Amino acid sequence: MNITSTDTSTTIIAPATASGGAVMVVRLSGSRAIEIADRLFRGRQRLADADGYTLHYGRVVDQDEQTIDDVVVALFRAPHSYTGDDTVEITLHGSEYITATLLRLAIEYGATMATAGEFTRRAFLAGKMDLSRAEAVADIIASDSRWSHRVASTQMRGGYSAKLGELREELLRLCSLLELELDFSEEDVEFADRKQLSDILSRIGEQIESLRGSFALGNALKSGISVAIVGEPNVGKSTLLNALIEEDRAMVSDIAGTTRDTIEASTIIDGIRFRFVDTAGLRTTDDTLEQMGIERTRRAIDRANIIVHIASADCPKFKDIDLNAEQHYIKVINKIDRVNSTDTLPCDALHISAKQSIGIDALRSKLRSTANTSNLRSNDIVVSNMRHYEALTSANEALQNARTALCNNLPADLISEDIRTIIHHLGEITGAITSDDILHSIFSKFCIGK
Ligand code: GDP
Repeated sequence: MNITSTDTSTTIIAPATASGGAVMVVRLSGSRAIEIADRLFRGRQRLADADGYTLHYGRVVDQDEQTIDDVVVALFRAPHSYTGDDTVEITLHGSEYITATLLRLAIEYGATMATAGEFTRRAFLAGKMDLSRAEAVADIIASDSRWSHRVASTQMRGGYSAKLGELREELLRLCSLLELELDFSEEDVEFADRKQLSDILSRIGEQIESLRGSFALGNALKSGISVAIVGEPNVGKSTLLNALIEEDRAMVSDIAGTTRDTIEASTIIDGIRFRFVDTAGLRTTDDTLEQMGIERTRRAIDRANIIVHIASADCPKFKDIDLNAEQHYIKVINKIDRVNSTDTLPCDALHISAKQSIGIDALRSKLRSTANTSNLRSNDIVVSNMRHYEALTSANEALQNARTALCNNLPADLISEDIRTIIHHLGEITGAITSDDILHSIFSKFCIGK
């Protein structure tokens, strides 16, 4: 999202709904929205004379007063609209021809096609929502499972903003005290009690750490948990993928090396999306195509949150694979229908038959339990956005520097410099402009009288 552009003088238009439905909503927003809509729309009264928050039934007409469609128009007057500008939402029949004609006419009358995210960008610039909430709007539209919806909706309702706002307030207060000391530097006074300062920084550090710590889960809930299905050729990886997603996505065959490339498919288990990658069997081969598949397999394994390692009941052995510290590892023995007894099979693995759908539910439960959501209450704040995570990481680094500066009794200006950096990075998340905030905080709380 480009947040630097401040040109909100144009009146923008765009369909707000995807094509193919019975009705379509076209949204028009900007200072000329009502004037342009009045040129298109014939109803009982002119929209220019109507109140905000009203609905109007009528017709959309072309330049020759020919009816294009019967429509309902919703009118929102500035500043009480999503963008903060005058906004008109026209509900029409879901025909591509009608929509295209309406857009063409509106553009002829002075509207401009909106760019991606422009309505929300304007809402942000108008102060209708902060940046993290604006970003959550996109997440909520993209949400496709109970948990991705929950994470986005908590963020959109201002989950972060309130918490970050509190942290920033506290830091601004500290900064004000330290900067006050600079003004009185010749008198060697200490307005900011160093012990108190250190306690507050520790507390803020814990809160930043807890937000950062929630990212792994938050990101998995938002984007889906990636699961790499790995094992020797022919152990039943493709069959298992098909069983897990309950459709024939991957090709199953007795010929080793059939899956020459990674195949991805996803499904929702108890409200969480899992993205499975059926990998090419790891084996030594001269086949260039298969080698490329194996290389991709290795990359898929590196990126996965969970590795499901399969061996066949005929030969229940698992080759070592390298895991990183955050990866979950599940061992599975497939084709148990081919052995008389499972007693001799390793008991640290799940025993399944992908072909006969035995043990698949147990594997699903095991996968689901790796995403530990049981302690998460509906209002808990979970960081799911990479940009926020990076900003929190930078804030955390600055916080460690501030604590070191404090420990080493460094001068107030150096400590305040680090605190400014923390404020800056926290402000990056909400889109606040930090230096003005600091000035405001200093002058609003202290009457220095200089
Ligand atoms: P991959 O190479 O690891 O992906 O293995 P496939 O899924 O292509 O399966 C290889 C062969 O094993 C196919 O003939 C499958 O039908 C068979 N197979 C897979 N799972 C089972 C199972 O649970 N029981 C039996 N008996 N055969 C299976």
